[in-house]
Amino acid sequence: MHPYTYSRPRSVHDALADGAADAAFLAGGTTLVDLMKLGVMAPAEVVDITRLPLRGITFDRSGLHIGALETMSDVASHRIVRESYPMVAKALELSASGQLRNMASIGGNLLRRTRCGYFRDISTPCNKREPGSGCSALTGINRIHAIFGTSEACVATNPSDLAVALVALSSDVHLASAQGSRTLPLEVLYALPGTTPHVENVLRPGELITGVTIPRSPWAANSLYLKIRDRQSYEFALASAAVALELDGRTIRHARIAVGGVGTKPWRLPSIERALMGRRATPETFEAAVRDAADGARPLTHNAFKPALLRHTLFRALTTLAAGR
Ligand SMILES: Cc1cc2nc3c(=O)[nH]c(=O)nc-3n(C[C@H](O)[C@H](O)[C@H](O)COP(=O)(O)OP(=O)(O)OC[C@H]3O[C@@H](n4cnc5c(N)ncnc54)[C@H](O)[C@@H]3O)c2cc1C
Ligand code: SF4
Repeated sequence: MHPYTYSRPRSVHDALADGAADAAFLAGGTTLVDLMKLGVMAPAEVVDITRLPLRGITFDRSGLHIGALETMSDVASHRIVRESYPMVAKALELSASGQLRNMASIGGNLLRRTRCGYFRDISTPCNKREPGSGCSALTGINRIHAIFGTSEACVATNPSDLAVALVALSSDVHLASAQGSRTLPLEVLYALPGTTPHVENVLRPGELITGVTIPRSPWAANSLYLKIRDRQSYEFALASAAVALELDGRTIRHARIAVGGVGTKPWRLPSIERALMGRRATPETFEAAVRDAADGARPLTHNAFKPALLRHTLFRALTTLAAGR
């Protein structure tokens, strides 16, 4: 590991004052420490934020507010999350392992770096780790990589299950920096790789995630997260679907859909939502709606199975949700 300075402030104000442009915030450490050991990240300053008052899960007229330092396991087991936002609880439960979820924070999960193996292997070229060095995945093993939002510079997926569920529900992320506070739709936090894959989000240098808000909605309570992966636990998604339906009898009044494991950022599918709204919640409707789900996808040598996998995942999520299972 490279040498670095370490501080452990007690207030957001002090953390932001400590946070120089190249500092890294340490929350659960389940990603950051790992990447520092591998030499992938080498911050000159580490600001340990675990003592900051960024906890709490509260519910009011505008929705559910979750502090950035809440652990993944506490959020997943919270009564209101389970009852009113089941897709969020499920996305968290299907992430990592019980031990990791006990340590890992909501803010850290939203900024989890990609799981592309070349990114973690400092002996290989990677534009995300070392800008301009090349992308080993383009000509290497790219089975787990993205089919949406890719570029010639990077094809890595965004790894967060939680982010997919939060984007489907139009959640906001709250940020603080030495310049002040701001709130953004979570969807716009993430950047496409383009020619600068090392720039993964629109956070300003030293900016801190302080929490997220999931709005109240008539569809969030009828929602589901389905994750398809190589093994049933401790594994990232090959494809996942976060779906929510507001039903009026059997008629779909409103649909919300985002997918994971396939995009360089959590991927919304508004055309599928439009194809569902006003229709009867039947297998025939779902089959017709998901037919175009992979339009615009750019499969690579080893992940050509992903468009079909995505359609099947979406269909299964929708039929399962409509059947009330
Ligand atoms: C083996 C393994 C399997 C996993 N499987 C999954 C999975 O299936 N699905 C999934 O979603 N995740 C998975 N994860 C990821 C895991 O959920 C993340 O490691 C974890 O959520 C990160 O949270 P943390 O608090 O430990 O973050 P840290 O490691 O402390 O930080 C992660 C990054 O976020 C930054 N950061 C942290 N908090 C803030 C903040 N409040 N504001 C600004 N920046 C911040 C850090 O500087 C760092 O860059 C897996 C991890 C491992 C190790
Ligand atoms: S896909 Fe992205 S993260 Fe993976 S090697 Fe290429 S540039 Fe690096």
